[in-house]
Amino acid sequence: MAVSNEVIAESFTLLSKLMDIHGENPFKIKSYAAAAFSIDRLTEELSAIPREKILSIRGIGPSIGKQIIGILDTGELPPLLEIIGKTPPGVIEMLRIKGLGPKKISTVWKEMEIESIGELMYACNENRLMLYKGFGEKTQNNIRDTISFYLRSQGSYLFAEVEGFVLSIHKKLRETFPGQHIAMSGAFRRQLEILNQASWITCVPAGDLTGFFKEQNFTVEEEKPGVLLISGSENMKLQFEVVPPDSFYYRLFETSCSEAFLEKWTETYQTIPGADSEEMIFRQAGIHFIPAPLREDPVWISKAGKAPLPALIQFSDVKGIIHSHSNWSDGLHNIEEMAKACIEQGFKYLVISDHSKSAFYANGLSEDRVREQHHYVDELNARLAPFHIFKSIESDILNDGRLDYSDPVLATFDLVIASVHSNLKMSEEKAMSRLLTAIENPYTRILGHPTGRLLLSRAGYPVDHRVLIDACATHQVVIELNAHPRRLDMDWRWIQYALEKNVLISVDPDAHTIAGYHDIHYGTLAAQKGGLTATHNLSSFSLKQMKAFVSKRKA
Ligand SMILES: [Zn+2]
Ligand SMILES: [Zn+2]
Repeated sequence: MAVSNEVIAESFTLLSKLMDIHGENPFKIKSYAAAAFSIDRLTEELSAIPREKILSIRGIGPSIGKQIIGILDTGELPPLLEIIGKTPPGVIEMLRIKGLGPKKISTVWKEMEIESIGELMYACNENRLMLYKGFGEKTQNNIRDTISFYLRSQGSYLFAEVEGFVLSIHKKLRETFPGQHIAMSGAFRRQLEILNQASWITCVPAGDLTGFFKEQNFTVEEEKPGVLLISGSENMKLQFEVVPPDSFYYRLFETSCSEAFLEKWTETYQTIPGADSEEMIFRQAGIHFIPAPLREDPVWISKAGKAPLPALIQFSDVKGIIHSHSNWSDGLHNIEEMAKACIEQGFKYLVISDHSKSAFYANGLSEDRVREQHHYVDELNARLAPFHIFKSIESDILNDGRLDYSDPVLATFDLVIASVHSNLKMSEEKAMSRLLTAIENPYTRILGHPTGRLLLSRAGYPVDHRVLIDACATHQVVIELNAHPRRLDMDWRWIQYALEKNVLISVDPDAHTIAGYHDIHYGTLAAQKGGLTATHNLSSFSLKQMKAFVSKRKA
């Protein structure tokens, strides 16, 4: 099939934009953009024009004309292929974000070293864009909103992005159909960090449901016997399974289990329809209750067969804010504001951990500023007692695994969090040697976001979790569960192994604003999936326990 003018024009537009991002010859960039403009306005298809005439079309010229002929003959534009080959896919994808032109993308990529849309979104949350020329707070907010809209239209969602939407639908359903069986099920109920759809089990007749959703301007995508698929304004698909009342809890149970969990369950137990609660299903099986977030790994079935499962950590079990940034580095609020917000919200202490000196992009603290901050914290502590601010730092783990300050400076902190922020593209070998060196450092108390992953946007560097956790056990290092919904790092799947090794976890918000404290909510949801209890969570320590933890330096 002949290549259309539209496709040819788009190729030249993309070429000109990518060249602009790479900072190439402005004259050439302009000529490609102008050619695209002219091609767009042609009334005749280029494929229908005799080849020799293409070279003399106004606004195109012989050199670009030859490239057009090449596209018509081979379907390819070699300089475009070449430049795509040397541009990270995530950078090319940024061109789809409205308000982000080639010049800004160039700054984002070359100066901020950001290579994907998700990373860029995260950088907005850390207020990193505002430090660069041409990016004010308004631009930053615009970019963040556009990206979040863009990401939402891609089919996978962070739990946090759709939580409010799903809960509001659920609430409306409960109000519209009072007294009827309606329950959330599936991945949302299991609190999985990434979701593709939300699902419900209900006894409300399908006709009533479609009526309800049409009234709310939703689209009914599919209607099969017993199953309805609805698409909402957020593009998230909503699935409803309509069941008779006597199989409601039975189906609710089944659809709230992972495949592996359900397989193991059916090997061992028979689920009899007619149960009047999920609890009854477990009673009939003769084992202790397993809450939905734990119905992932079948290992919980045998655990629940032996003893009641321990109470999972709750938001209210978190007693202090560990890992937070103030306006001394890349946070938005000053330490006093952050401390007062803690007090208002019932937290007993704040571990302020700004960025260290080599995090220049985040206005990391020089040794002088560390000293200054400590004086300021002493003064605040005198005023705000019994509330307490601990002096911490999120120290960069340098390329060779060393921390960012000399030992005498590290010794002035109550608590050092060590994190990797630079040169994230590493082999497992390199990542492990870097992390293990940092874990062995006598001043490291918490390993921050251990893999550097950003969900749906950056895989994180490869690590050997077992070796990492074993090292943390040997060197008494706490592993952070970074509660930011795009991080949730460490992965909850490793919590049980960490607990077996007696390693403490710490659910930390990594807050860059006061509003960031709320992320503790997502951290605890993920921690519950790993079976974490308050006893094994550092941020659940009382102020007294925390003071003892801090004063007990590592052996
Ligand atoms: Zn960090
Ligand atoms: Zn941080």
